[in-house]
Amino acid sequence: MRTQVGIVGAGPAGLLLSHLLHLEGIESVVVETRSREYVEHRVRAGVLEHGPVELLKQAGVGARLVREGLQHHGIELRFGGRGHRIDFPSLTGGRSITVYGQQEVVKDLIRARLAADGRILFEAGALGVDGVDSSAPLVRYRQGDHEGELSCDFVAGCDGSHGICRGAIPAGALTVYEKEYPFAWLGILAAASPSTEELIYAYHERGFALHSMRSPQIGRLYVQVRPDETLDGWPDERIWSELQARLALEGWSLTEGPILEKGITAMRSSVVEPIQYGRLFLAGDAAHIVPATGAKGLNLAVADVRVLAEALAAWYRHGRTDLLERYSATCLRRVWRAEHFSWWMTSMLHRFEGDGAFEQRLQLAQLRYVCGSRAAATTLAENYVGLESV
Ligand SMILES: Cc1cc2nc3c(=O)[nH]c(=O)nc-3n(C[C@H](O)[C@H](O)[C@H](O)COP(=O)(O)OP(=O)(O)OC[C@H]3O[C@@H](n4cnc5c(N)ncnc54)[C@H](O)[C@@H]3O)c2cc1C
Repeated sequence: MRTQVGIVGAGPAGLLLSHLLHLEGIESVVVETRSREYVEHRVRAGVLEHGPVELLKQAGVGARLVREGLQHHGIELRFGGRGHRIDFPSLTGGRSITVYGQQEVVKDLIRARLAADGRILFEAGALGVDGVDSSAPLVRYRQGDHEGELSCDFVAGCDGSHGICRGAIPAGALTVYEKEYPFAWLGILAAASPSTEELIYAYHERGFALHSMRSPQIGRLYVQVRPDETLDGWPDERIWSELQARLALEGWSLTEGPILEKGITAMRSSVVEPIQYGRLFLAGDAAHIVPATGAKGLNLAVADVRVLAEALAAWYRHGRTDLLERYSATCLRRVWRAEHFSWWMTSMLHRFEGDGAFEQRLQLAQLRYVCGSRAAATTLAENYVGLESV
């Protein structure tokens, strides 16, 4: 099989890239190891910055997002028995965020690609990428009993943190920067109406908790847990009691409901440099991971493919190579800004084993400063809603 751009992975990065390329008249084929059903129901991120929302709308895949997404104008930081609201529009010139599940973005993109006769090969796992330093790279894949080859002009490695594309870059050409945080997040999806309209980030002596949502009927909540914990130790009652304790506030109550899904996600940062080698371009989680505290993973994936689609369009339309050559450096500026913001939020809000009263007072001093100083609140707000340029 032959196409112009071979895309590995039908997550948000791969699907949006395929759609944006289609709008530029560029052909692509997406190879995805999982089924359509699986990727459309994989619950992960759900906070979209202002920029990605505008991009999805402009690209003609934002109708349901506008209809069903929950626009939020702020978040609450809860600590010391009080809630403090950070108001986004007044601090960022009118910007906000939209809560809309990543799996819904994926559904919208798949529908748009298939409606335009786009090719997505589901249950087709990429086995390897060859010839990335030639002008005719190749994706080898297996779909059922069939082993196929996809020859293309360029390969986009959008295959997440456990994908195979990164491995096609020679070890010596790549530097990996990593940080493991000494805790994980236990996240639940619950049939429980959100107890408040906006997200609550709670700093508590028992550990961090986040109150979030996916719709007016479905809550998404998290508690900080040890990195080695398993779900066996967390029956539903324990999860709710921990959430009740960490989010407690006089005059406010947390609504409980049946837990529909639960999982534990490691908190880590990882960045690969460069994110391009020859004709292979990495995008999204294949290139970088952020801890979820800053809600940046999905947004970075969107930012990468926007840059990549523009660069590929300039190559196909005008033979320009400069944007492709700058792809890695352009994306990495935003990636490192997001890594810093995510690390900063994580450091301010979590309990670190081994920390004593001194470190905890530093965290509280920082939280009070963020809530009390317009300059400090603006730092949080403008990073959270997403910086226009980095
Ligand atoms: C468990 C989990 C929970 C998360 N929760 C949050 C959250 O609460 N908030 C937040 O902001 N962010 C969260 N994130 C991060 C966010 O979801 C990611 O940043 C986002 O999914 C990145 O999109 P992507 O398209 O780059 O990668 P992915 O969504 O990972 O997509 C990669 C795709 O490639 C496919 N693939 C992998 N290997 C192959 C192969 N060999 N051949 C073909 N296809 C392949 C995968 O099946 C997948 O569909 C979470 C991530 C994970 C893993």
